[in-house]
Amino acid sequence: MAFEFFSMGSEGSDEVKIKDIENVVIIGSGPAGLTAAIYAARAGLEPLLIEGVPAGGQLMDTTEVENFPGYPEGVQGPQLIDDIRKQAERFGTRFLSDQVTETDVRSEPKIIKTDAGKEIKAHAVIISTGASARYLGLESEQRLKGFGVSACAVCDGFFFKDQTVAVIGGGDSALTDALYLTKHAAKIYVIHRRDKFRAAKVLQDRIFAHEKIEVIWDHVVTEVLGDEDSGVVGIRIKNVKTEEEKVLDLQGMFVAIGHDPNTSVFRGQIELDAKGYVIVKHPSSETSQPGVFAAGDVMDPHYQQAITAAASGCRAALDAQDYLGDKGLLD
Ligand code: NAP
Repeated sequence: MAFEFFSMGSEGSDEVKIKDIENVVIIGSGPAGLTAAIYAARAGLEPLLIEGVPAGGQLMDTTEVENFPGYPEGVQGPQLIDDIRKQAERFGTRFLSDQVTETDVRSEPKIIKTDAGKEIKAHAVIISTGASARYLGLESEQRLKGFGVSACAVCDGFFFKDQTVAVIGGGDSALTDALYLTKHAAKIYVIHRRDKFRAAKVLQDRIFAHEKIEVIWDHVVTEVLGDEDSGVVGIRIKNVKTEEEKVLDLQGMFVAIGHDPNTSVFRGQIELDAKGYVIVKHPSSETSQPGVFAAGDVMDPHYQQAITAAASGCRAALDAQDYLGDKGLLD
């Protein structure tokens, strides 16, 4: 797996014109934020999109995307982001390559402060800051990301046809990933740190019944073996009860130990659930704070797909447009 890198938004950011009070500021540049920008721009809201650093969200760490409608041959994740971005740009979205460090979304206008020292005011805000996959935190794991280490089985499972892989975790994601990987891989180890899964029983039953899957209880990964040339060649695992270590020969490791929504800059200002996801008033994208809308993985602990994120971005832009119209705030 080799990544193509797209550099986006860094050029010319200094020239971005910022209004005294923006109609709508979109925070985050994954499929949710970019789709919100397309709709908001076409509605004449002249949105300002703060891209985040790095820009593009989780798709920038993905290789082939085969399930996004409109790409019959599949598309590289970064290319998909670049395509949607161009579409948003075409209708006049302004992109600011910067990181939001602080907000006050309870005030009117809402205040957004950035890493580069900008203070931006806006009547409406769309939060599309996404979620970040949790990793184990091993140095070897970080080094081999994209070379056999992945946090997305649906994105990368295809590359492990007839090979041996491991899935780390014991929740619904890990077990769903393991079952998905049976379509491609010859053998799947599920490695869990305890002797009980927290996943739904129906998933557990399928896992235990599947001939390609072997569960290894009470083990943690201590090292991923391999290099950028060979890719992953194995993992070292340790029994947490006996401290015994062993090496499993395999070509892929999928980390499925959960995601963390990127909501720290909004904490205490809008309602979040126990895991930090933004609570929206389904089916709308309204948050607990008037004029603040949320779209994509940051408010979706369940589906977390590019297409569902894009769809919710559309909803957020339409909701923001209604809000600004109703309040007579459109300039
Ligand atoms: P999760 O339920 O939080 O499970 C995370 C798993 O990773 C747990 O088994 C946990 O172990 C393990 N883990 C966490 N940190 C670890 C570490 N540092 N080292 C090793 N293992 C670690 O997360 P999730 O599975 O991503 O699910 C998130 C939400 O999405 C859940 O609400 C789930 O129901 C939902 N979901 C649903 C479906 C579905 O319905 N098909 C599919 C995917 C996700 P412990 O058990 O020991 O804590």
